[in-house]
Amino acid sequence: MLLVYIVNQIIFRILPILLLFSAFPGFSAAGDTQDVFWVYTRDRYNRAVLAEPLEVPDGENPYQFIAEYKGYPDYFIRREDDVTFLAEKADAGVVPILCLHKISREEDYALTPDRFRNLLRYVDRNGWYLVSDLQYLQGDFSRVPTGLKPIVMGSDDASHGTLTYQTRGDRQYGRVKRLFGKPLIDKDSMVAILEKYVKREEGRINFTFYVSFDGIPFRQLDGYENPGFPYRGIPVIAEKIKYLDENFFIGIHSQSHPYVWDLGINGFAEDIMKGWEQLDEYAGGEAKSLHTMAYPYGVRSFNLDLRNALSSLNRSGKYLDGAFDFDNKLAPPPGNPGDNFDVSRFNVDNKHWDRLIRTLDGADAVTARREIIWEVDSKRLPRSRYSLGASPTDEILVLVRRDSGSSE
Ligand SMILES: [Zn+2]
Repeated sequence: MLLVYIVNQIIFRILPILLLFSAFPGFSAAGDTQDVFWVYTRDRYNRAVLAEPLEVPDGENPYQFIAEYKGYPDYFIRREDDVTFLAEKADAGVVPILCLHKISREEDYALTPDRFRNLLRYVDRNGWYLVSDLQYLQGDFSRVPTGLKPIVMGSDDASHGTLTYQTRGDRQYGRVKRLFGKPLIDKDSMVAILEKYVKREEGRINFTFYVSFDGIPFRQLDGYENPGFPYRGIPVIAEKIKYLDENFFIGIHSQSHPYVWDLGINGFAEDIMKGWEQLDEYAGGEAKSLHTMAYPYGVRSFNLDLRNALSSLNRSGKYLDGAFDFDNKLAPPPGNPGDNFDVSRFNVDNKHWDRLIRTLDGADAVTARREIIWEVDSKRLPRSRYSLGASPTDEILVLVRRDSGSSE
């Protein structure tokens, strides 16, 4: 009888009380379970303060919650230690992906060095921010400060003026001028201009060189005898590919530069693979910055068989992230993408210079939004905005986690 009484007491009296208490966060044994976002801002005396607390509903992922609260249709998350960059994946607007070719005075598929400088100045002064083609494909605008417009750039063919060294005598056959072994770069070449006008991001400049082997890549031999197509084993080309692989991005542009529908899907995929192998070979084993390709002459009638063939190509388990067309259109936003293997690019050359500027001025471009979130266990002021990687337009939030597993 006594045992039944005790069991009854537990089931009908003690247990309900325990359950009741555990339903209220304030009474639970582990303490407060509510996560709270605070806006890092300044008070009227210009002192750094935390304001506008926003409680995360129980059981919800705080990052998911804040993305919904801010009205992001979708988002991309990148973490750097205890700081999280949560960037919107916009589902409206366009992203310009610019396709350049040579640096020269020719009208078609070329830009003069001064126009290229002007383009980079224009980009910088009109609220654009250079992202890599890979970041675009991944929907990763987490490095773009709030309010700026992502834009992508690259050049096809590794042709004249892209990466040109100074030479003694003939530009193609002459020996490269060097200082302590280092080649001297032509100030008017694309790489020199980019290095002067574009800030590096994590050691690289966001610009992709899509290399093909239908001509001598970069059109220089440094005294080496021309071996003919496909231009294998030329030391100065290895030197340039390695340089680009460390400081920019390399992309595949096939080996022989065929139009995809002249070769058919299998033949084309094979030519892409040969181009890839040759780039890896020149990079000394693996071109680490290589993730993408661009169709020679564009693709026009893209289809799923082509997508399947290209997306299944791989070198030691590494696959391509996407392929770029050449159709004079601006690309879709990351939250509403088309096919990653059929991404629009816009032609840039002397002949269509005015059209380019008109198009960029009038574009309904994606404008980046992101939250910089510093996650901590107890409420406190974050490190400086600067050390969190924030620009003046970015919002900084402090996320105070209360269920961070501390076993008190
Ligand atoms: Zn090309």
